[in-house]
Amino acid sequence: MSFSGEVKEELQKQVAAARHCQIAELASILHFCGSLQAAEKVNNREEGVRPSSYGEKLVIQAENEAVIRKCFTLLKKTFNINTSVNEKRVGNSMKPGLKPRVRTSARIRAYDIELTDPVQIKQVLQAAKFMDKEGMLRDMRAPVSAMLIKNSCCQRAFLRGAFLSSGSMSDPGKSYHLEIVCTNLFQAEQIQTILLSFEVEARIVQRKKYHVVYMKDGTGISDFLNIVEAHKSLMNFENYRIVKEMRNSVNRRVNCETANIGKTVNASTRQAEDILLLQEKYGFENLPDGLKEMAEIRLAYPDAPLRELGEYLDPPVGKSGVNHRLRKLSELADNVRSQQGINR
Ligand SMILES: [Zn+2]
Repeated sequence: MSFSGEVKEELQKQVAAARHCQIAELASILHFCGSLQAAEKVNNREEGVRPSSYGEKLVIQAENEAVIRKCFTLLKKTFNINTSVNEKRVGNSMKPGLKPRVRTSARIRAYDIELTDPVQIKQVLQAAKFMDKEGMLRDMRAPVSAMLIKNSCCQRAFLRGAFLSSGSMSDPGKSYHLEIVCTNLFQAEQIQTILLSFEVEARIVQRKKYHVVYMKDGTGISDFLNIVEAHKSLMNFENYRIVKEMRNSVNRRVNCETANIGKTVNASTRQAEDILLLQEKYGFENLPDGLKEMAEIRLAYPDAPLRELGEYLDPPVGKSGVNHRLRKLSELADNVRSQQGINR
């Protein structure tokens, strides 16, 4: 199973104890996967219009079984509604709540729950605030009522439902990427805002007709798994991260050492240039004794580090003494250059 699938399996089993959280998660699932469908063809429902009769059914459908199983559990726990999960084959032209996918000629397997009892539909939609007390309907794709996600516990539940319904993440052994595909920008922004309240920054990108909330940093994804309470997945994810970090730190150290060697070579090349210029345009015999000896030693050992150069001097001097003399030589070379109009 993919890492993403494992996270969903874990989230399916993670059922909040409080009723407010259960309703928040259910509202999230309805928001992404739910739709009211005409039971008969003649029944034409318009938004904001009281359904003439409840000749409608509430369908919750997804390609991922975990979210539908979770929905089943929540309906049972919250409303004591007993339903069944149906498996079906659907065409490619799926309803927009589902993730876009590569077109294949094969028919896609999907799972759904159908509520047909008008009393139950009303009960569920009203609790999830998709229907008001008068029975007026709200667009299920519009942001979930703020009333339902006031508490951080309910926000966690909402995000859990969102990831189960429409989220995915890449295998952390390969790359860091977590996303939730939304059918509209308002939906995406609601998720982004909730994440921000947990101090997690996510971005939104438009992909064809979808708005995708995503994050690509290990810390953000780790925080997300923590927020939705996928603790087992979080541990697995962190293990991947540790291995990756160690590998990176070894690479960083190697790069760093290479860079330092480069620095030494560059500096010694410049010093050699300066000294050769002094030799030619100024004369070693005109240098004070300390500098003359330093110049000769530098030319004799072009690649030696400063500490080593100091040991060749008589009497030996420390690294800072060597540095001081080399700087003096360079200043002198710069003076000669400016006097004689020579460019480096
Ligand atoms: Zn809650």
